[in-house]
Amino acid sequence: MNRIALFPGSFDPVTIGHVDIVNRALSLFDNIVVGIGVNSSKKTLYPTEKRKEWLGKIFEGKDQVSVEQYEGLTVDFCREIGANFILRGLRTSVDFEFERAIAQMNRTMHEDIETVFVLSSPGLSAVNSTIVREIIKNGGEASKFVPAGIDLSLG
Ligand code: ADP
Repeated sequence: MNRIALFPGSFDPVTIGHVDIVNRALSLFDNIVVGIGVNSSKKTLYPTEKRKEWLGKIFEGKDQVSVEQYEGLTVDFCREIGANFILRGLRTSVDFEFERAIAQMNRTMHEDIETVFVLSSPGLSAVNSTIVREIIKNGGEASKFVPAGIDLSLG
């Protein structure tokens, strides 16, 4: 059986924390699908197309990784693409409590899909898309928190 994991998120914007989780999980799975969750009622700083383009570029040379966008429940998208694992990153105990609830509810809905957590690397647990967005909105320098070559310009 192929081990396919979905790494769901908003990636608004993608950070070095996200990329670290995917790269470190490559040895655990045959394929990782980075899934951009699209929620039409939620306003994002960057359009879906841009987020997809960034992720595609970051993982260009990695055959194991693909990038998709999806709407609706994460577990339903897992079914659609044949993913039997959900990959999530854990930074802090706050992440843990939030992730625990989602993972346990997902497990109740779909017992065949297992959520796997990877702890953030030392030094990356403070990297957070929400804070990166605030820096950008206020004209600060955020390039240290995102992978090289990512154009963060707005509009
Ligand atoms: P964020 O939580 O930063 O707004 P996402 O919703 O796109 O970003 O998160 C997608 C996944 O990436 C989540 O599992 C989240 O915990 C994880 N993640 C984000 N930043 C980091 C980091 N610095 N270290 C480890 N995991 C991270």
